[in-house]
Amino acid sequence: MLSQIKPIDTILAKGKKGIDLSENDGITLLTQTEEAAITTIRQTADELRQQQVGDTVTYVINRNINFTNICEQHCNFCAFRRDEGQAGAFWLSIEQIIEKAADAVQKQATEICMQGGLHPQAKLKGTSLDYYLKLVKTLKQEFPQLHLHAFSPQEVQFIAREDGISYSDVIIALRDGGVGSMPGTAAEILDDDVRRIICPEKINTQTWLEIVSTAHRLGVPTTSTMLSGHIETPQQQIQHLIHLRNLQKTAIENNYPARITEFVLLPFVGKEAPQPLRKRVGRDQPILEDNLLLTAVARIMLGNWIPNHQPSWVKLGLNGALKALQWGCNDIGGTLMEEHITTMAGAQGGTCMEVKTLQNAIQSINRPYQQRDTVYSHLSSLKNR
Ligand code: SF4
Repeated sequence: MLSQIKPIDTILAKGKKGIDLSENDGITLLTQTEEAAITTIRQTADELRQQQVGDTVTYVINRNINFTNICEQHCNFCAFRRDEGQAGAFWLSIEQIIEKAADAVQKQATEICMQGGLHPQAKLKGTSLDYYLKLVKTLKQEFPQLHLHAFSPQEVQFIAREDGISYSDVIIALRDGGVGSMPGTAAEILDDDVRRIICPEKINTQTWLEIVSTAHRLGVPTTSTMLSGHIETPQQQIQHLIHLRNLQKTAIENNYPARITEFVLLPFVGKEAPQPLRKRVGRDQPILEDNLLLTAVARIMLGNWIPNHQPSWVKLGLNGALKALQWGCNDIGGTLMEEHITTMAGAQGGTCMEVKTLQNAIQSINRPYQQRDTVYSHLSSLKNR
């Protein structure tokens, strides 16, 4: 046991000093099995969280709007997509979207998170960009106070490809139309061998990184995510984290006007996922222990570069998310008000959270809570202590 713990102590000491961990350092941490070693990793992640962002746990009042589940792609983990005309397929009208946003405003939401399938008919009445801009501009016109957190790098590439324009053209138009930030989704695992199996039609690693970096250069903040716990190896998980760290370093070192605001770990839920991947992974729900160790290692690997870390209560359940707050996370995410993508995959965490439920949960682990906006400007008047 001693021979295992010694190198870990050296690695963790590096992390505490703010020195970037190497790929080998990260893999060493992630492959620990001894309880004592794992406890030390958890404590280090918790200490770093405390030093970097304090004890306060933040949350955002937001609403998800998935405007369509009709999608041209066939990702092997996705239980959300439908073909047009298939049972369960939907494509919301602008009026339905406005209605959902109005409900969110009434519930004090500061953010609408909007993403959807890649609907080939989005451009029937003009260009694809016209359709996406209409969503954005209508929402901003009706509810100028709402922050629009919208459209993944995959959606940006879809619009650019459909319309024959550059990623910059798409991002500038969306930004100027009213998009305030972009979800760093569609990252899954940033490794092309994994992507070829789980999402063969999606943008590759290089394109995902290019689009996110372009957003930062153009002043659009993004989040960052990882879909973990399916077929990827510890080495691929660590390489994914290093990609995110490098992306943030690029934004900071080049003085780009926007950056990665947070890292969100999204464990794979396979209950309703397409059969082949589900069978290959061999289980329906995430393994909490694996998720917690990766949560802690992500905090240590991303160091001071990305200080905000969020677990997914939809995928882990509220109790699992509360545990993650003790393994390096400092934010519990949003109220969501409705959630389709993970719930259709068979997640058991629920589809919406009341603000009070989140606040009580945070208090139950003796941590203060505070409402934030999408880009982590804290709404300080709502601090509870
Ligand atoms: S994950 Fe997104 S891109 Fe992939 S099939 Fe589902 S909706 Fe389409």
